[in-house]
Amino acid sequence: MYDHADVGEAKALLAARHLAALNPLIDIQGRECRLAADNAVELVAEHDVVLDCTDNFATRFLLHDTCFRAGKVLVQAGIYQYEGQLQVFDFRDELAAGCLRCEWPEEPATGCVGTCTDVGVIGAVPAVLGSMQAMETIKLLTGRETPATASTVLVDLLTLEITRVARPRRPDCPLCGAAPRRPQPRHEPWEISLSEFKRRFPAGRVIDIREDWERDQVGGHDPAWEHLPLSNPHPLRDLDRRRDTLLVCQHGIRTWRVVSALRHEGADRVWSLPGGVSDL
Ligand SMILES: [Zn+2]
Repeated sequence: MYDHADVGEAKALLAARHLAALNPLIDIQGRECRLAADNAVELVAEHDVVLDCTDNFATRFLLHDTCFRAGKVLVQAGIYQYEGQLQVFDFRDELAAGCLRCEWPEEPATGCVGTCTDVGVIGAVPAVLGSMQAMETIKLLTGRETPATASTVLVDLLTLEITRVARPRRPDCPLCGAAPRRPQPRHEPWEISLSEFKRRFPAGRVIDIREDWERDQVGGHDPAWEHLPLSNPHPLRDLDRRRDTLLVCQHGIRTWRVVSALRHEGADRVWSLPGGVSDL
C-alpha cells in the first residue's frame, strides 16, 4: 500500500488514493482522524463490516467493544514477528462464539508486547495476513460462511502451520456475559499529559527517546526538549532521578515500558506521555 516516499504522510488518505488507482469504479473515502471514544460510535455506525488493521490494544479494544454494541461485523488481524492471528466477530445476531473480552477480559497494558517499531516487521507478514483479512471480508459480504467466526486462526509463517483455536463464550465475560460491566481504560498513575506535566513541574525536563530517523521523518518535537535516543548504550543511565522528567516517544509505548521499569526500580519522578507525539 505504501512506499518509502510516503513516510510521515497520513496512511488513511494514502491508502484511499492507492486503492482508487487500483479500481476507479469503487467509491472510496479516506478519513484522517484518530479513533477515540467520542467518534467511534458514529464511524462504526456508517458501515456494515469493520476491518481492524491497527497495532495497539487501546484502539483494538475500543473498535471491538463499539462493534459489539452496534451489532456490526469486525474482521481483526494482527501480527507479531513471524506469526499472525485472524478472527471474525459477527455481532449481527446472537453470538455463536466468544468475543475478544471472553479471551481478554481486561485490556493488556500498553507496553506488554513489542510493536513493529520496537521488534521489527517483515513486510510479507502483514501482506499475508492483510490478504487473508480481505478474503474473509469478501466472504462475509457475499454471504459465505467462515470458520473464523467461531475460532481464532493462528498463522505461523516459519513452519507454515495454520491452526484454528475454538473461541468459546465465557458466561462471566465483562462484555457479552450475563452481567456486563463497562471496561475502564487502563491508566497508570505515572502517565501524564504534556500540559499537566508543565503545570505541575515548571522546572521539569522533557526528553524525547525516539531515534534520529523518527525525528527527521516524523518530527513533532519541541526544540526545548532534550533528545536521548533509546538505542544509545545506556541512554537513561545518567538520568537525574531527583528531577521530574517526562519521557516522550512516538506512540507512548516505549516510554510506557521504560517508565514502568524505572518506577519499579524506585525512580518515582519519571513520567510517561501517553499516546506520545502522535497524540499531541
Ligand atoms: Zn465475550
